[in-house]
Amino acid sequence: MINEPKTSLKESKIVKNLVRKFKDSKDLLKEKLSNFDIKDLNNRDVDKSTLKRVLAGFMVVVIIGLGYTGYKVNEIRTRAFDIYLGENNLGSMRTQEEALEIFNEVKSELCEKYDADVVLDHELIFEPTHTKDDDILDPSDLKKSINSKVGFLVAGVAITVDGEEIGVFKSEEEANALIEKIKEPYLSDYTEESMPKEVNLVEDVQTVKKQVSMNALSNEEEVIEYIKNGSEEIKTHIVEVGESFWTIARIYDTSVDELVLANADKDPAKLKPGDEVKLLLPTSVITVETVEEIEYTESINYEVKVELDDSMYKNQKKVKVEGIKGESKIKANQIKHNGIVVDKQIVNEEILQDPVDELVVQGTKEVPKTVATGTFSMPARGRISSRYGMRWGSMHRGLDIAASYGSAIKSADAGTVSFAGYQGSYGYMVEINHGNGFVTRYAHASKLLVKKGAKVTKGLHIANVGNSGRSTGPHLHFEVLKNGVHQNPSNYVN
Ligand SMILES: [Zn+2]
Repeated sequence: MINEPKTSLKESKIVKNLVRKFKDSKDLLKEKLSNFDIKDLNNRDVDKSTLKRVLAGFMVVVIIGLGYTGYKVNEIRTRAFDIYLGENNLGSMRTQEEALEIFNEVKSELCEKYDADVVLDHELIFEPTHTKDDDILDPSDLKKSINSKVGFLVAGVAITVDGEEIGVFKSEEEANALIEKIKEPYLSDYTEESMPKEVNLVEDVQTVKKQVSMNALSNEEEVIEYIKNGSEEIKTHIVEVGESFWTIARIYDTSVDELVLANADKDPAKLKPGDEVKLLLPTSVITVETVEEIEYTESINYEVKVELDDSMYKNQKKVKVEGIKGESKIKANQIKHNGIVVDKQIVNEEILQDPVDELVVQGTKEVPKTVATGTFSMPARGRISSRYGMRWGSMHRGLDIAASYGSAIKSADAGTVSFAGYQGSYGYMVEINHGNGFVTRYAHASKLLVKKGAKVTKGLHIANVGNSGRSTGPHLHFEVLKNGVHQNPSNYVN
């Protein structure tokens, strides 16, 4: 700041006035002299005193003029400026330009030293003064003085996320480079051709110019770490003997699910003493959103249509036309947040193959009680006295149920009586064909209550327990045959 001396205008007026007065008295003297005839010199009547007065006046004016000129020369010669930096008086210099040059030198040296655009906290202020040569500052002393007293800030660039500052850097380039670094891990899986068509930041991320002190500049690594893990400090727990995610979750009042998420690198089943378990789920401060176009085929399910048929029983169903799945080609925008798919927006769907509906025929006829249900019930009440299998060197092909003589034998399932009568070692026996591949036999009866050809329901009283045929006491010998082959009845009755 160059301050023009305020007094200069006033001074020059004074000088002009003096010069004018000096001229006036000179003119007056000339006039007097011209009126003064040389012939009058010898004239006794000449007024000598008048001449003396004029000369004396002239001498006074000359002396004053010379004195002032001397003063003026000295005044100009000692002109200087007091230099202030804030409140500090640094000393005096003859010109402002010289001081400013040194000031700018200090500034550019600081810029160079810190590799940053520095802003000094004060500018130089100048006040006009007069100083003898001896008291004028040496330029190198002024430089030392500025260096020791000046404070400075760096013209930095802050990164804000939704208005909250997360770090300050030396330049716009540095700030932008950091933002690019945050995106990097989510772009590394792509080739140049498969690059996502959009890469956005979900939060409002801005760079803002900001002056800060040198030590308030951020460390890039620390800021990246903060962005990745969020504001919450991640604590760790060292696993002790017998601990699991479940017990650790109880200690810290968190959930097992959260621990599993926060420790994706660990298998919860293989936690060992000494393992470190992270306790907080890191939440990223900046969310990198990628939008990529993907193409895939998807199968289209067929519809099932039902046709009713009154010639079939209600519990009968058959497939008349087999359904075939269709296929479509889908183009979609897949949106990922920090590498995790969060949404898929279908852009186009092209059907490659239409599905073929399935046609099912469903019976409507009421199912008669004489049609087999497919499951068997116990045909008599009593103790199991002999099971199916090898017995005394020969095969026993049925299940023996010891029961009191004359107690009821009931059909194990519905069907048609295919034999009722006496047959060798079986004695009195009933055989029922269930119409579904199964045949059951009830032997050693004392009395038969059904005849061949009769339709029977499940649980119908068909005969009484006896001791006929090759039998050693009253019991029911029960057989189950599937497609003519003997089965272990224990596998069917319950
Ligand atoms: Zn038997």
